Amino acid sequence: MEDSILYDLPTEFFADMAASSGYCDAQSILPVEGKYLCHCTCGAWDIESPDRDTGLALARAHTAQTDGTR
Ligand SMILES: [Zn+2]
Repeated sequence: MEDSILYDLPTEFFADMAASSGYCDAQSILPVEGKYLCHCTCGAWDIESPDRDTGLALARAHTAQTDGTR
């Protein structure tokens, strides 16, 4: 059995899956070093936010913009 897999990290695997979906199925807001990294499954939305509320507001604005494109 060959044990080597292309995806070393689950997060990389997820990111790849997300980037290939092309839809705004979900947005993630992750706290990183005092700020928040916001990502969308469509792969076209990656921003930094100073706080979680701002990230959520921006996520709503993003999905509002792209809603109905699927
Ligand atoms: Zn999106």
